[in-house]
Amino acid sequence: MQTNRNTSTCLGMIVLMACFSCPDMKAQEKPSYNWPNGKKAAVSLTFDDARASHPTVGADFFRPYGVKATFYVVPSAVESRLEGWKRMVADGHEIGSHSMLHPCTGNFDWSRDKAIENYTQASMREELVESKRKIKELLDVEPVSFAYPCGLKYVGRGIETESYVPVVAELFSSGRGWMDEARNAPSFVDMAQLQGTEMDGKDFESDIKPILDEAIENGYWIVLAGHEIGEGGSQTTKMSMLDELIKYVQQPNSEIWIASVDEIARYIADQRK
Ligand SMILES: [Zn+2]
Repeated sequence: MQTNRNTSTCLGMIVLMACFSCPDMKAQEKPSYNWPNGKKAAVSLTFDDARASHPTVGADFFRPYGVKATFYVVPSAVESRLEGWKRMVADGHEIGSHSMLHPCTGNFDWSRDKAIENYTQASMREELVESKRKIKELLDVEPVSFAYPCGLKYVGRGIETESYVPVVAELFSSGRGWMDEARNAPSFVDMAQLQGTEMDGKDFESDIKPILDEAIENGYWIVLAGHEIGEGGSQTTKMSMLDELIKYVQQPNSEIWIASVDEIARYIADQRK
């Protein structure tokens, strides 16, 4: 009898353990979230680096739709097209910070002299404070949203490596990653580590629509991340994809709320109070 009980307990544990990794069980949970106006999901369009196409092609593209995107800028790139960026602010787009120098791993030749492996939490903090000050000086806006350059969230190397997520959490209301695998579950997500989903080079029907439909099922907030805005090419979010996406989320009875990162982050913060 003792042996039988042990055997059945063992079998029970195996079944239980198997269910933890069972995708069908997880799919049945269908968590929802109290999005405004009966919406079932949210999406933000975000673009990095203050690329040349943003205040030109991008600004002209978004204006007729009235869609507000989030642009994570490097101030030196804003300075070179300042009037265009002032018009972006007037159009209502959100301006976030993407640091001053865009520090990335020194394994990239272009980043060797600003390698995050050579930063400390203190030097990163100094740089991010300066990025906020410079953006305020140039565009008269206070950036509250941040995107991690290269999506990398550490400074230093080896046993002296530290996360700089706490620095971002202190200075900004949100920090977005890059090419993350997860979506944002609004009742759980750490605002300092928003999951970023790549939209460069993607098509709507085959790539983005399935992600939005999954978001509707699960109440997710999708933060799409791209670089240039254009017809196609390297590190470019296609206008044809954006056009279909916006028409999809703006159709009558759409279940998706589209807004800037700051607007959605503030809504979630209010819900948490
Ligand atoms: Zn970048």
